[in-house]
Amino acid sequence: MAKSSAPTGSALSRADRRVYELLKRQVQQERTTLKLIASENFASSAVLEATGSIFTNKYAEGYPGARYYEGNEIVDQLENLAVERLKALFGSEHANVQPYSGSPANQAVYRALLRPGDKVMGLALPEGGHLTHGWGVNFSGTDYQSVPYGVHEKTQQIDYDRLRDTAKRERPKLIWVGGTAYPRIFDYTAMAEIALEVEAYLVADIAHISGLIVAGAHPNPVPCCDVVTSTSHKSIRGPRGGFILSNKEDRYQALYHPKSKHNLARRIDRAVFPQLQGGPHMNTIAALAVALQEAATPSFRAYGQQIVKNAKALAQALQDRGFDLVTGGTDNHILILDLRDRPLSGKAYAERMAKAGIITNFNMVPGDPRDPAVTSGIRLGTPAVTSMGMREEQMDQIAAFIATVFTHPDDPDVHSCVRRAVADFCSSFQVPGIPGS
Ligand SMILES: *Cc1c(COP(=O)(O)O)cnc(C)c1O
Repeated sequence: MAKSSAPTGSALSRADRRVYELLKRQVQQERTTLKLIASENFASSAVLEATGSIFTNKYAEGYPGARYYEGNEIVDQLENLAVERLKALFGSEHANVQPYSGSPANQAVYRALLRPGDKVMGLALPEGGHLTHGWGVNFSGTDYQSVPYGVHEKTQQIDYDRLRDTAKRERPKLIWVGGTAYPRIFDYTAMAEIALEVEAYLVADIAHISGLIVAGAHPNPVPCCDVVTSTSHKSIRGPRGGFILSNKEDRYQALYHPKSKHNLARRIDRAVFPQLQGGPHMNTIAALAVALQEAATPSFRAYGQQIVKNAKALAQALQDRGFDLVTGGTDNHILILDLRDRPLSGKAYAERMAKAGIITNFNMVPGDPRDPAVTSGIRLGTPAVTSMGMREEQMDQIAAFIATVFTHPDDPDVHSCVRRAVADFCSSFQVPGIPGS
């Protein structure tokens, strides 16, 4: 055999040992732990390949056919492909695939619909809403007048009656529907009626649930809303990014934007570029196009349905072991453990679970008596473990791991014993995007 002088290993391993070693360690960690963070997932190898492609090099400020740089004939086709796939998948009239992530997508919505100081309503952060829906420290809470709505004390689900009363009294110009820690289906029809009554824009933020919607496991808000925003990296399993769907025309153009010569679709596009962003990340848009093609398949439909089945199975298995869940269960991929009656905080339990290889995040629960820096809740989600091929029967084992840590929160031997058992458990599943797993 001829002796090869070619260096071995990947370009990264040769060019930068430190980054390469960190990457290898991260792969090893994700390979051997249970990723139960509700907002995370495993993108496919094809999505990762497109993300890491030479499309990262191209500058394409503007939109297809109207760029501020030359040489964009091919990326014009790429962006149009992503836009067309997105419109077809969600049934929307208009789509923008350029937002760098979910928060910038929401920022563009504020720019396109409101003026600073206008009134917005969103689900309060401690009750499951997102920072960008009017929370105090965020631009949405400082630059706009925020009137949050909340959940019912008993059911812990959105109180639509109270929401309607507040909306009639406050007359917000925009109402957000969506959340980051809300385990139930959103009633888009009820929200649309309220928005119409008070002449407010209705904007759905489907960052968490876009994959479930595509799979038919959660209702699609597009027919009920003026605008819909999303991330592309959560349940829909694409690259890290964001997108915006909207109607073409603004139903309140004469009321709120009488002087604008641009319709709603155009105002959204202009808000993203040039008002807020420069060049779009064409590698991300390429990967989004790939993810959207994957999401249009029957196997993705089965995947999305399985996410919900797994979440319901995990909820049941945890309740059987004495855990309380916010709202008493789940309709989607999210479970919130209610730890108000437990001796330790959400953060303390989450840290101990991580030592045992169960990766989650601490989270506020409605009426949380503890500090937001430690909280009384833990959020769990099933998209990533479902991507590994786990089904209902594995959820019981996951609940058993969690219960063991909770029974012995301060025993390092238990942590390392569960850690080994979790690694062994994970080794019989394939992890998308991690070759040879
Ligand atoms: C994750 C999330 C976002 C923000 O996404 P980033 O990509 O982290 O900026 C916005 N809204 C909701 C409801 C989310 O869950």
